[in-house]
Amino acid sequence: MGDIKGFLKTKRKTAAYRPVCERLKDYREVNLLPQPGHSQEQAGRCMDCGTPFCHWGCPLGNFIPEWNDQVFTGRWKKAFSILDATNNLPEITGRICPALCEYSCVLGINDDPVTIRENEFSIIEYAFKHGLVRPRLPKKRTGNKVAIVGSGPAGLSCADQLNRVGHSVEIFERDNRAGGIMRYGIPDFKLEKKILDRRIAIWKKEGIKFFTGVDIPGDVPVERLVRQFDAVCLSCGSRTPRDLLIPGRDLQGIHFAMEYLVQANKRINKEEIGPGEIIDAKGKKVVVIGGGDTGADCVGTAHRQGAACVVQIEIMPKPAECRTQEYPWPKYPLLLKNSTSHQEGGSRQWCVSTKEFIGKNGAVNKISCARVEFIRDEKGCPLIKELSGSHFEIKADLVILALGFLHPQKEGLLRELKLELDPRGNVKTGVDFMTSRKGVFSCGDMRRGQSLIVWAVAEGRQAAHHIDKFLTGHSYLPLI
Ligand SMILES: Cc1cc2nc3c(=O)[nH]c(=O)nc-3n(C[C@H](O)[C@H](O)[C@H](O)COP(=O)(O)OP(=O)(O)OC[C@H]3O[C@@H](n4cnc5c(N)ncnc54)[C@H](O)[C@@H]3O)c2cc1C
Ligand code: SF4
Repeated sequence: MGDIKGFLKTKRKTAAYRPVCERLKDYREVNLLPQPGHSQEQAGRCMDCGTPFCHWGCPLGNFIPEWNDQVFTGRWKKAFSILDATNNLPEITGRICPALCEYSCVLGINDDPVTIRENEFSIIEYAFKHGLVRPRLPKKRTGNKVAIVGSGPAGLSCADQLNRVGHSVEIFERDNRAGGIMRYGIPDFKLEKKILDRRIAIWKKEGIKFFTGVDIPGDVPVERLVRQFDAVCLSCGSRTPRDLLIPGRDLQGIHFAMEYLVQANKRINKEEIGPGEIIDAKGKKVVVIGGGDTGADCVGTAHRQGAACVVQIEIMPKPAECRTQEYPWPKYPLLLKNSTSHQEGGSRQWCVSTKEFIGKNGAVNKISCARVEFIRDEKGCPLIKELSGSHFEIKADLVILALGFLHPQKEGLLRELKLELDPRGNVKTGVDFMTSRKGVFSCGDMRRGQSLIVWAVAEGRQAAHHIDKFLTGHSYLPLI
């Protein structure tokens, strides 16, 4: 442990973001890289507590106190090797992970937690800057071939792990470029795509083969993959959006969040969009329905496109700003999130139910809403009650539906393979990540439902362990 009294002397301080007035004019990352001295000082706050709950909070079981100690003493190379042992994409989680670990940091019981995510960001960027992240080719090839369908964080992490132990991995991706939601959902102001390209270039040098623009089974029959490869892993995400089937839904100007964000990402990264298909917020009154992170990404994108105003509405009540009894430490609490997009403007309203989309000449121009409250019925079950006389309207000429995702796409791949699904419509697997079809595995959102990058990486790593065991009878790959 570096500084035994660090947590007593140093207060938590996070690195600054780019100023709002500057960042709103471009799509570059809002995060600023912390200076090494800053991270060293903050890492010194880690108490090396007896039971580091942060390990438990992080789905990857990252060795957080160990790397904090190395950072505090300036041994960045060692810090990187510890981080690299458990995380295939620290440059992504170090930027945009909601830092589940920080909510279970022991220092967080009566003080502010250690800046764990930010320290992770510093370590990995130090490693890239100093040439520590280099292609590592497997010592020998096993002769086994694995096909991965879908190149989001789950598929990529699974591929990386399997390639490390010598299996030949081929990734099939329906989009033009690899990355899944990291490339086409998350805006550049949170994650510039060159960060992803930097890592993919290393994986290509290590021997992983990428086939993009290939839909399975549209372009390659899935049965052919099953026949030609020794194992197949499906990591196609969970992208079926939740709809809002109320009167006026068919009016023009109402889009799902992913339609809007995918296109915005493609335009920024110079991918072609048909002229009639462009969804642009410039000069528009934008309403984002759904108060979560996807909605926040739409808010930030709309502001950068020059929206006249942006309102985000949510049917649920405003979350608490600090821990309640419902979410005691070290549980991950449901708290009010003020994302960088919220700091950039717009307004937010909670307990708002959307009743109807109202239009003019076939296009939406306002939304009819009502205020609701949450009560309990006589059995104690929660009920949503509309407040009488609370109707109001919000002007809107672009409406974005960010209401979450239901399950993976069922047509195509899943239907052809006739895979068993769980009660929520996700792909059902055993504890070994194998689906109801022998030799076909699944991981990430497709298996657990829409979640987080850190969970997708953890799932990809676990699936790789089981695939390796299936292929060779045992596995030295870690289970997380
Ligand atoms: C807008 C948005 C913002 C988010 N922001 C964050 C964030 O800031 N931090 C965070 O931790 N999490 C965030 N998440 C959640 C996170 O991105 C996902 O949980 C994660 O990407 C899931 O990874 P995955 O690999 O399972 O699937 P995905 O990332 O969805 O990747 C699946 C891939 O499979 C491909 N595919 C699908 N079907 C086929 C097929 N039939 N043939 C070939 N390829 C196919 C898709 O094109 C896609 O590339 C966000 C999610 C959204 C929607
Ligand atoms: S991946 Fe996320 S939860 Fe894990 S240590 Fe990093 S910031 Fe924390």
